[in-house]
Amino acid sequence: MKTSTYRFIAALGCLLLQVVDSLSANAQQGPPVSLPANITAIQAITPQGELPGRSIPYYLRSGEGERYLVGGFVACLMARGIDTDNLYEWMVLTGGKGALLPSHTHSQTHEVIFVLDGEIDLWLSGQHYRMIKGDFASIPPGTTHAFRMQSHHTQLMSMNSGHQMTALYKTLGKPYAGYVQPSDNISALDPAALKQAEKAADIHFDGKPLPEGNAQRVVNAQLPKSVVPYVLAAGEGDHYTIADQLFGILCDNATTNGKLLVVTCEGPAGPMIGKHFHMKHSETFFCLDGQLRMVSNQVVLDVYPGDIVTLPAGTIHAYQHLKPYTHHVGLLTPSIFELFFRSQAPSTQHVYPQQPTGGLNASRFAELDIVPLERPGPPPSPRH
Ligand code: FE
Repeated sequence: MKTSTYRFIAALGCLLLQVVDSLSANAQQGPPVSLPANITAIQAITPQGELPGRSIPYYLRSGEGERYLVGGFVACLMARGIDTDNLYEWMVLTGGKGALLPSHTHSQTHEVIFVLDGEIDLWLSGQHYRMIKGDFASIPPGTTHAFRMQSHHTQLMSMNSGHQMTALYKTLGKPYAGYVQPSDNISALDPAALKQAEKAADIHFDGKPLPEGNAQRVVNAQLPKSVVPYVLAAGEGDHYTIADQLFGILCDNATTNGKLLVVTCEGPAGPMIGKHFHMKHSETFFCLDGQLRMVSNQVVLDVYPGDIVTLPAGTIHAYQHLKPYTHHVGLLTPSIFELFFRSQAPSTQHVYPQQPTGGLNASRFAELDIVPLERPGPPPSPRH
């Protein structure tokens, strides 16, 4: 073995010791001797694979959820206000070329969208973007926006603060058993249904036309510092690394007024992170690529692209990447856990580290909403 390899292993060993020391210091503080009743009640729940209708941990397989056909797209509600204690709502919209939602605003809801497949045109506050897989948009309350799907199989996620968007799809659409649009024919949205939706949900349709031509590809790589509409190109965001995983912050406290923290994570197959829980914020994981293994209370789940796992505050959880390229996105609400990511090693790269970097920085754990329950596994071995 080369001297440089020995040095690398020795450095990793030192880092591991530091991490274990700082984590065990925290582990001695927690879990609290007596947990609040709401936390022990959540930890007693065995998650099931269906929408629960109350705020408890659950998971849904790709395509499952409450579905409505809305013009030319299927809105699959994977988390409704009723399932999240009104914290957030999560929809996956699947449709064909030409399916659209006309120009509108939300007065209170902060919406973010993430493209899963195909291309969409997004009109956002006077700009006209062409978005592809992995592109992201943040749409604060009061922002005029609209989208139109541009591919025969287009899919995007819409994540919303609060609880007022389920009613939009219920009112605008019809209950639907299928998973994709029924045909190429896009039926127009009924003007009476648009009016009805304005009464039921946090939405106002303004009737503005959608100017054609000159759609710009999304190229922006910078998060703004305030609550303004913006887009981010696929793979962009504020990057940090822990061992061999690359994290990307897509929106945060500053850009959503503390409502939504959206973080992507990509990496190779590796060990399970340490089990832990949070007292105050909820986390929801959605698998984009590869395969995850997740602990949610008593259950160990294998999680595939399109699957969602919700972890309300209190849920004991951990995750592990199982495939050579595993990519998931997490929504953390409210955004109080931002410092966890911000205190890791910043990275200018857009690919996960080929050799594991330093391990977890747990030096700020005492300030964070986290109760670690076990020491993390060893950092992965260097790859050759
Ligand atoms: Fe967590």
